[in-house]
Amino acid sequence: MELSKHNIVSKIEGTEDYYIVNLLSGNADILSAQKAEEIFSGNFSDIDEYIEKGYIVEQAAEKKIYNEKYLDFIESRDTDEVQIFFVPWYACNFDCSYCYQSGYHNKFTVPSTELIDSFFAYVLKKFAHRKKYITIFGGEPLLPGETYRNTITYILSRAKEANLEVAIVTNGFLLSEYIDILKDNPIREVQVTLDGVNATHDSRRYLQGGGQTFESICKGIDQALTSNVTINLRMVVDKENIKALVDLANYAINKGWTKSPFFKTQLGRNYELHYCQTGNERLFSRLEFYTALFHEVNEHPEILEFHKPAFSISKFLFENGELPSPLFDSCTGCKTEWAFDYTGNIYACTATVGKPGEALGTFYPEVTLNDDMVMDWEDRDVTAIAACKECSLQLACGGGCAAVAQNRNGSIQSPDCRPVKELIGMGIKLYSTHEE
Ligand code: SF4
Ligand code: SF4
Repeated sequence: MELSKHNIVSKIEGTEDYYIVNLLSGNADILSAQKAEEIFSGNFSDIDEYIEKGYIVEQAAEKKIYNEKYLDFIESRDTDEVQIFFVPWYACNFDCSYCYQSGYHNKFTVPSTELIDSFFAYVLKKFAHRKKYITIFGGEPLLPGETYRNTITYILSRAKEANLEVAIVTNGFLLSEYIDILKDNPIREVQVTLDGVNATHDSRRYLQGGGQTFESICKGIDQALTSNVTINLRMVVDKENIKALVDLANYAINKGWTKSPFFKTQLGRNYELHYCQTGNERLFSRLEFYTALFHEVNEHPEILEFHKPAFSISKFLFENGELPSPLFDSCTGCKTEWAFDYTGNIYACTATVGKPGEALGTFYPEVTLNDDMVMDWEDRDVTAIAACKECSLQLACGGGCAAVAQNRNGSIQSPDCRPVKELIGMGIKLYSTHEE
């Protein structure tokens, strides 16, 4: 018998204790420093308990369980809902300081109804037997003027006809002007971004040619919530505005947003995915981001009323009292996520949509698909990436993001390592301190 290669053992942040997590056996424990030393040295005082919990295993038996869980994972993913992004234009009325799309050709034109019909025809055929929903993405989908309004209305009517829910990713500036259209359609959620309160937000997310946006976005959020349209409020966080997280949290709490059943939140991290961003030194690495977040939440626990960060598997563990299923793959591209744009191109996901050389095929004017490229995406998981196969973190990490891996290593079949050990160590400390 030997130690399981899926044990994750590391220190709990700010304590002398350690944790052990094994996603294959589904067990987790807090270990004293002495017990952790037993694991590191291989001299156990109570080997039976370790065997019972799957921390010590017969290799062949563990491999069998691994294969079974892998098949379960693939099977359940095949029935998961597919998120289908549609970009009607890349044009935008904002000029955000960090926009990764600002190097794209942002033509202010709208797609023809023929192209939109082709998109729906493709989606309804290709994903005929899958649960699915559409996400309208940009650029900025909610632009001023009848032409844009009519196009969005047409897309929503086609979705309604096909019985598909729609999510919209918007900067929120004109949300209040679109509420009348949205509340009459099956809108799953509207994702809106605020990067802080008042001047902090306005210094990062301003109109083309300048102009404040905070007040107008808040008005749209208020109207959406009173119209029972779900808002997913996203804050894009970097070193420049991390201190504004508590201000935004308090603002949302005071507005009563956090009490609404139609309000949820997410935190986004800017990263160097597309091309050299202005002011790269303000970007957080994933570990820096979570470390900064850990300190902010400890200092201002009210942030948790606004947003509960995942810290790898920690949030799930504390909320559910059990570990999540093993994550053999953390990248949804070409599996449960696809992206389509107004040029008629098909892409794997939002990280690649619109990027030259990344199209996998076309849905308009004719249907084409590069099967080899699609298969490369579909095959990517921790059993396919050489570096992941022997990695003890694989079932918590899932191999990371294919687009980041491609950017960094030149191949999607390469790892995008996540600082899983540190994240779990911080998350256990955070949620054991602040959650009753
Ligand atoms: S490539 Fe990255 S952004 Fe795209 S689906 Fe995979 S993990 Fe998500
Ligand atoms: S991406 Fe890195 S950390 Fe994640 S499973 Fe692969 S080798 Fe391990």
